[in-house]
Amino acid sequence: MGGICFIGGRRKPSGSAHIRRSGFTLIELLVVIAIIAILAALLLPALALAKKKAKTINCVSNLHQVGLIMAMYTGDYQEEFPYSTSNDPKMPLVDLFTVQKAYISTKNRNFFHCPADIPTGWNYAWVGQNSTYFAGLNPPVSTAQFLFPDSYYYYSDFWSHGPHRTSEVLHPTQKAIEPCFASPDNNFWDANANPILPAAHGNGMSLLFVDGHSLFAQFTKLNHGGGDYNFEIVGLDHVDMP
Ligand SMILES: [Zn+2]
Repeated sequence: MGGICFIGGRRKPSGSAHIRRSGFTLIELLVVIAIIAILAALLLPALALAKKKAKTINCVSNLHQVGLIMAMYTGDYQEEFPYSTSNDPKMPLVDLFTVQKAYISTKNRNFFHCPADIPTGWNYAWVGQNSTYFAGLNPPVSTAQFLFPDSYYYYSDFWSHGPHRTSEVLHPTQKAIEPCFASPDNNFWDANANPILPAAHGNGMSLLFVDGHSLFAQFTKLNHGGGDYNFEIVGLDHVDMP
């Protein structure tokens, strides 16, 4: 019967007649790699978009925390907004944090720095890249005066010719008090540029309102007021305080 025997009526191969393949051929490997590459190309833009959205959500949450500090401060100071006799930009970039010091934890200041902002922070980028100009101001401003990276500005409506009180704001739910000026690259984001420059959050910006709520608004829905980089929701409170 040679090398073949029958068990239960079935033929059983013996010797080297049964060849078992192991591993992949080159073609199969190339096909798998090509499929992975296609899937990655499809998924990566979606992941990048999700990451960008997550940063914007985080930024809006940061602004809410900044709003809580503002609310605690105005509550303790007869509804007066943070104010000093300094001009722009020392008031919004340095003095704001000096007068609010009691409400800012030294352990957690990360929420002043938008996750979409460049690592150094918008305040460092702006003043650092224009150091000669800022040194010539009265009072002068330098990055050495900063306590931490900050992405959020303090609109001059609330301290210029101040002090001002919350009761002066006609529509607290509609009047922005602090925007996010996160820079998408190593250059500071000039919010006053016209047309609007590419922004870290895409086609809009995060805003904190006087009543303490914060949201992301598209540029098309904002009024580019000029002057103080003052963006406001179109059709709402455009009345500057005296
Ligand atoms: Zn932001």
